Amino acid sequence: MAGHVSGGVIVFQDVTDAIAMATQMTHLTNHDQLTGLPNRVLLHDRMQQAITVAESTGHMVATLLIDLDNFKYINDAVGHHLGDNIIQHVARRLDGVVDTRDTVSRIGGDEFVVMISDCKNMSCINRVSTQILEAIKDPFTLAGEEHRLSVSMGISIYPNDAKTPEELMRHADTAMYKVKSEGKNNIAFYSNSLSHELEERLSIEKLLHQRIKEEALEVYFQPKYSLVDGQLTGMEALVRMFNQSGQLLPPIVFIPVAEESDLINQLGKQVLEKSCRQAKRWLDEGRPTKVAVNIGASQFNKFGFTKTVADTLLKCDLPAKYLELEITESALIENINAAKQAITSLQKIGITIALDDFGTGYSSLSYLRSFNFNVLKVDRSFINDIAEEEQARNLFNAIKHLADSLNLNIVCEGVENEAQLKVLQEMGCTEAQGYYFSKPLPAEELENAWASIAL
Ligand code: C2E
Ligand code: CA
Ligand code: CA
Repeated sequence: MAGHVSGGVIVFQDVTDAIAMATQMTHLTNHDQLTGLPNRVLLHDRMQQAITVAESTGHMVATLLIDLDNFKYINDAVGHHLGDNIIQHVARRLDGVVDTRDTVSRIGGDEFVVMISDCKNMSCINRVSTQILEAIKDPFTLAGEEHRLSVSMGISIYPNDAKTPEELMRHADTAMYKVKSEGKNNIAFYSNSLSHELEERLSIEKLLHQRIKEEALEVYFQPKYSLVDGQLTGMEALVRMFNQSGQLLPPIVFIPVAEESDLINQLGKQVLEKSCRQAKRWLDEGRPTKVAVNIGASQFNKFGFTKTVADTLLKCDLPAKYLELEITESALIENINAAKQAITSLQKIGITIALDDFGTGYSSLSYLRSFNFNVLKVDRSFINDIAEEEQARNLFNAIKHLADSLNLNIVCEGVENEAQLKVLQEMGCTEAQGYYFSKPLPAEELENAWASIAL
């Protein structure tokens, strides 16, 4: 009869395995395999929960984004197996610092997040963050060897800085980036001005991308003169970038962004080529003029740099003796032997090399001797007070003697008035550049530069 139950079948199944499997699956999807710590997914859940609780208690939730400094190098040096070991040790130390209701999570290769839920005041956040720095400072002993580590930490706080887990993470990242860019091994709290800074940086980077793509960077030239006979001795090429509203952005604003974002190579290539083309034009017009081009540190250290320069000369049909490269000490210290080789091969082609901003870096003697520069450009800061202060004159004198004993030509930067010019002449300086003679200008506006200056 329809609807009448006449019997039943009961199926027994042992589900222990299935439950164990499911539990294991959940654990796998929520945890990092190497350290066993909660991963990004679980961290997000916990953050959401902590925020929900904090909404009613009025307490704070802090997100501490922790990135190991220079871990890539350590990993390469000790090998991936030991590298993994270090990550596990770091995880344990972080876990040892925090309270059980807080979360330590590994969200990437060498990136961890500590979430402190339910903070009543800033002091608990300060305490945990400094404890973390301390805990990492102790050397790690692995396979009988000591390794020292440091971390960069960015902190953002609910509800002050952000309202959602995503926003908290983003802002902690901004703060962490700030620490990295300022020399690592420190803590930074997120702030609105920080995000403003980041936005500006991003917009400069975007503009740089665009200008490089359009090949719309401009090169201005600033003449250098002989203080012996007043003749033009060469031009320094200086890059210029205009923004959408036609405003000129100074290189000091965008060169560091280019250096950090790797755009410096393309920028440098374009400036080099434009400078060589201009030098060739002057040569063809019967006004042979040596052009000095600034080279960024990472541009100089890039594999194949020497070849790029040689190729550019060929492409522009410019004899090498019309090109000088200005390099700062920071470009040389990364790999001294490679730098020496590069300089020697550039000089073999016929290019001269100037050490730029001399006096602001290490400027060690042995170092100066071991490189075979052609020119020393004395930084503007030594020229500034030279007319007024005896100490400035003494300093300059020392530099001058040093250069003489090493057979180096000196060029003084930033001569702004006649008084400075006179002192420099008296002190035996033979070449200078500065606003007193001319500001950097577009090539078309430099028609008068070839007339010798009155001394
Ligand atoms: P720098 O190589 O030391 O260039 C000299 C700077 O001093 C230029 O600033 C120039 O305009 C300025 N200057 C020249 N004479 C005077 C003066 O009498 N008084 C004062 N107060 N300043 C004077 P600029 O053009 O703003 O460039 C700044 C820096 O940006 C340069 O310093 C250089 O390090 C970098 N830079 C410029 N162009 C390039 C480039 O094409 N590539 C790279 N990598 N860096 C560049
Ligand atoms: Ca320079
Ligand atoms: Ca300089």
